[in-house]
Amino acid sequence: MKKTSKSANLYAVNDLRYEDIAVSECKDDEVLVEVKSCGVCGSDIDRVYKKGTYHFPTVIGHEFSGKVVYDPKNELTGKKAVIFPLLPCFGCESCKKGSYATCENYDYYGSRRDGGMTEYIAVKRWNIVLMPDNLSYDEGAMCEPVSVARHAISKLNIEKGDNVFISGAGPIGLIAGGWAKQQGAENVYYIDIDERKIEFAKTLGFFEYTEDVTIDCVLEGTGHSDAIKACLEAVKPQGRVVLMGNPSGDVTMTQNTYWCILRKELKLSGTWNSSYNDVVNDWKESLKAMSEGKLDVKPLITHRFPLSQCNEALEMMKNRTEFYNKVILKMNEDEN
Ligand SMILES: [Zn+2]
Ligand SMILES: [Zn+2]
Repeated sequence: MKKTSKSANLYAVNDLRYEDIAVSECKDDEVLVEVKSCGVCGSDIDRVYKKGTYHFPTVIGHEFSGKVVYDPKNELTGKKAVIFPLLPCFGCESCKKGSYATCENYDYYGSRRDGGMTEYIAVKRWNIVLMPDNLSYDEGAMCEPVSVARHAISKLNIEKGDNVFISGAGPIGLIAGGWAKQQGAENVYYIDIDERKIEFAKTLGFFEYTEDVTIDCVLEGTGHSDAIKACLEAVKPQGRVVLMGNPSGDVTMTQNTYWCILRKELKLSGTWNSSYNDVVNDWKESLKAMSEGKLDVKPLITHRFPLSQCNEALEMMKNRTEFYNKVILKMNEDEN
């Protein structure tokens, strides 16, 4: 068994190091995963260049898949798996109801503890979701954003023939469009400050929003005040609005924008993370939909970098030197 693992380890804001760390010991409730693919999330860019992690150093990355290479109970060894990155406390009111996304005291792979941008990681057996064999590890790494998008879109209660408006045509926004279609939406319309993202959305069968379209429901995916305003203005009276975008600062609105909520009697809901329990499990449903070909996320993967180039990958994303959608880091270059 390998003793060290090449990792993307964050020591401070602006100090991400590609280096060897010791492979953590596998406890009885854990299995050792050989990571194959790890997606770079927009939040990782913020972590590395602005906000940092909860403590330093921390191996970042929470969108990862891999192969179980050691299981003390010998049940999962050799299986392909994705990892639900949230570690709930199991004690709070939310946890008692299985609503782990709203746990008051959670831990998290890749922000509060070491995560998936590494070759080997011991993860809790509870967090392992086995992958259907026909999915690639890259598709497995997409399971996190696919689950987050599913959780959000489910809250819109889309009816057949609905027109859906989504602000933000990044990976989660575009996956959400795919889910919206799955759930009966007629057309999905986007706004984004980056015209290239709109053009990319069009190649996937989506549309740019124009004011003449009646919008039944809206998913806000940016957390920006201007986008929230556009969402509230676009939606029809009695429409549904789900707020998903994580703001990087204060959100403000004018009286007129606020009036949209009142005067149109909008139904507003927030969404956070994803459901992961025996009743509703966005993770299992996401893997199933991808495996059955109902949701194809492969066209969203625009870039793959070896883990050794983690800094180049994140710099490219931060500076937007190239158009990108999903960027995936590969621990082992020959296996997608
Ligand atoms: Zn993420
Ligand atoms: Zn809890």
